[in-house]
Amino acid sequence: MAVATGNKHKLQEFTEILAPLGWKVASIRDWLPQVPEPEETEPDFAGNAALKCRFAVGVLRDAGLDSLPDAVCADDSGLAVNVLGGAPGVYSARFAERAGHGSGDADNRQELVRRLKMAGLVAGATTPAAFACAIHFQDLSVGTHHSALAWCEGRVGVVECGNSGFGYDPLFFPLLPLGVSDKTFAQISSGTKHELSHRGKALRILAARL
Ligand code: IMP
Repeated sequence: MAVATGNKHKLQEFTEILAPLGWKVASIRDWLPQVPEPEETEPDFAGNAALKCRFAVGVLRDAGLDSLPDAVCADDSGLAVNVLGGAPGVYSARFAERAGHGSGDADNRQELVRRLKMAGLVAGATTPAAFACAIHFQDLSVGTHHSALAWCEGRVGVVECGNSGFGYDPLFFPLLPLGVSDKTFAQISSGTKHELSHRGKALRILAARL
């Protein structure tokens, strides 16, 4: 299966989550090194995941390659913070850019911290938030489509903690069965993150269906 993403962290997580289930995960760039990415114009995660997957399949088919992957999969994900009305939501990857405050993971985190402080959050305090992950999968040999959506509830704070993971991980404290974790996604092992995370849950739903 080829994952239609230019985000190396997402590709690594796909591999770590699906390889133990017997899946062979590759990057779409193994087929097309310069594959373009579409503009994410849909209002929700599921719509954008389907848009990315269909776009990638179209580009692969138009490229006249000798061989194609057996399937293509795309992920659209992001963080929704209650006190910010669900922001950054589908704009998670471009949160800072849309505000004119830089671009990339570090600037996105800074923008989130700025907005949370404007909403009154102080160091040491946290507020409810959730990560979402929508997956869209297209089997190229039989043409079937499958999708899955999962959330990971938790809380966000304004002080970055931990160095692992990516994106908003250093600001996000996942909800555990007995309460909110005292460690962020950037302070726990990748295996523990995948057990709890939106992406781990969504990919396991997809794998169980297939
Ligand atoms: P997408 O490429 O539009 O799906 O953007 C997803 C963005 O949401 C990423 O660039 C990250 O900022 C954020 N994000 C999604 N999943 C995670 C995660 O597991 N940890 C931290 N940030 C994430």
